Amino acid sequence: MAKVLRCKDAGFDCAEEIRGQTEEEVLQKAAEHAKKVHNLEVTPGMAAQVRALIKDE
Ligand SMILES: [Zn+2]
Repeated sequence: MAKVLRCKDAGFDCAEEIRGQTEEEVLQKAAEHAKKVHNLEVTPGMAAQVRALIKDE
């Protein structure tokens, strides 16, 4: 089962859906996406909040 994170669930006006096989993979991709697209550095505290938004697909 894939894991999916919708960027808009994290509070962004953004249609990006980040998928991965594990939460770690999704978090890593989300951090890259946040940095590249939203110019945002993900802190450990934010990563914990984002992890809670990851859904099974
Ligand atoms: Zn985004």
